[in-house]
Formats: sequence, C-alpha cells, structure tokens
Amino acid sequence: MKITERKVGKVTVINIDPGDVVLCDLCNKDYTNSDEKGGFLFSGKAVCPDCAPEFMKSVKLYDEERFIVSEARSDETFRDFVYRIRRREY
Ligand SMILES: [Zn+2]
Repeated sequence: MKITERKVGKVTVINIDPGDVVLCDLCNKDYTNSDEKGGFLFSGKAVCPDCAPEFMKSVKLYDEERFIVSEARSDETFRDFVYRIRRREY
C-alpha cells in the first residue's frame, strides 16, 4: 500500500493507493502472495475462498444469489480474480 499526502490550501489530502494488495473484504486475509483458488464478488465485496462456503450458505438462506456479481473461474486464484474485477472484466 502506498500512502501519499499533499497540501491543498490548508487541507492535507491523503491518498491511499491499494496497489496490488489483495485482501478479503470479509476476513481481511491477505491474498497478495497466495495461490489459493476460488472466491466470488458479492455486491462489491470480494469474498475469499476461506469465507466463501460459509458466506454462500447465508446467501442461499436469504435468497441473495442475485447479489453475486461474479465468481472466480475454476482454475483462477482469488488474487487474479480480484485483479480481473478491478479491471472491470466481469
Ligand atoms: Zn475471507
């Protein structure tokens, strides 16, 4: 993560660039250097392979499948999946 600060008048603007870091939006686990496969995107949240099975249960329980925007391909790591999402290729 890269954090830059700049002054705009009297205000300091802090810009946080997430760079290539890939975190699960549920458990915050760092997948930047992980080759674990799977995961899905649920209403703007990247759900990692660890969280996916439990989370999917509640998705089905509450009939929220329509909020699953995209899923990792069968041979796709969670990291590559998130990069693809960031490129808006879903
Ligand atoms: Zn997770």
